Amino acid sequence: MARVRLENVTKRYENITAVDDVSMVIEDGEFVTFVGPSGCGKSTTMETVAGLTQPTEGRIYIGDDDVTNLAPKDRGVAMVFQNIALFPHMDVYENISFGLRLRKYDDEEIRRRVEEAASVVQLEGMLDRMPDELSGGQRQRVAIARAIVRNPDVFLMDEPLANLDAKLRVHMRTELQRLHRELDTTIIYVTHDQAEAMTMSNRIAVLNAGRLQQLAPPLVCYNEPANLFVAGFIGSPSMNFAEGELTENGLETANFTVDLDPARMPERGVGDAVTLGVRPEDVHLATSAETLAAPTDRIGARTDVLEPMGDEVFVYLLLSEAAGGSMEQDPATSSDQLLMSVTPDTEIAANQDVDVVLDRSKIHLFDTATGEALVHGVTDLSGPEPGTTPTEAE
Ligand code: ADP
Repeated sequence: MARVRLENVTKRYENITAVDDVSMVIEDGEFVTFVGPSGCGKSTTMETVAGLTQPTEGRIYIGDDDVTNLAPKDRGVAMVFQNIALFPHMDVYENISFGLRLRKYDDEEIRRRVEEAASVVQLEGMLDRMPDELSGGQRQRVAIARAIVRNPDVFLMDEPLANLDAKLRVHMRTELQRLHRELDTTIIYVTHDQAEAMTMSNRIAVLNAGRLQQLAPPLVCYNEPANLFVAGFIGSPSMNFAEGELTENGLETANFTVDLDPARMPERGVGDAVTLGVRPEDVHLATSAETLAAPTDRIGARTDVLEPMGDEVFVYLLLSEAAGGSMEQDPATSSDQLLMSVTPDTEIAANQDVDVVLDRSKIHLFDTATGEALVHGVTDLSGPEPGTTPTEAE
């Protein structure tokens, strides 16, 4: 077990900055996932921890040791990759024990460690199978067991489930959580799949273009995204965005206006460009919004496409058409569209005029120019902004 610290880590290749001044502390025993779109620097960041890549600038610490210049084998880390290379001519036992045999551990110690690891990943009874007699998930578990027997301080996993089918991936997600609980080891996990990041991790590190955007528990990233990038990346389907302008007492977008409680006005001036964000589940039909404590005024819309998902229905709403505006604009312009999620028993059809409202307690405001989050929730019903200290308890 060990704490991992990255201090101003930058990795530059000839004309690309793969990792840009990333600093973070991963606590002892924590499961942290690096997530972000392809090419954002997740793997490179992890490789600097593994020692497979030398950072151009910055330091890496594992426990109390500065490991920046140590070889991978001296860092107390074990890695599991997407492409598992098992030795095809060795059985499971020999594959798992390969590294230990190389390091000349005695036979009894090897057997003890292999059996322990096999039981953690539930491969008991399969130790004499050959790799081609295993399913994809079993092969992946052999790779994990091979990492476990080394007793690492830190596990590094780079998209280890990417080659598995969807069902097995979901199953392996729960297995990895169990593994983390049992081993109580620090795990750094890389994935582009935000569902994996959300479900397994203590905290997720959202990266974009080599820069760390937010490092926080999954639900904090979901409910209080630090900026437009995190807001758009975390959550599926994605958050709705509408660009607008601050007025004396609210926010005006092309198709609707939202009142802001004075206490929740962002510290920006009238006329400043602010982007509103609201998740599909926080858009409601006006007729079924009685339970909302703080709905916006009604917004006229026309339903476009419906996507029944079974447990919910996604309704694509067009705003300017229903509002009487011409549709000469590109219908894909984000602020003219709104995605709403409703329960399957909702009576709604395509091409229907409806009134919708937004849950003001769930509206996010961002500085359009910088992307920085300004306010989460534009009504003070829910109390002070999360993360701020109440000024005076009533
Ligand atoms: P991710 O894991 O998020 O997909 P990577 O860390 O693999 O992203 O890559 C980050 C960026 O660095 C990408 O633009 C990639 O093309 C570039 N990159 C990674 N490795 C090298 C390399 N060895 N040489 C040049 N560019 C690289």
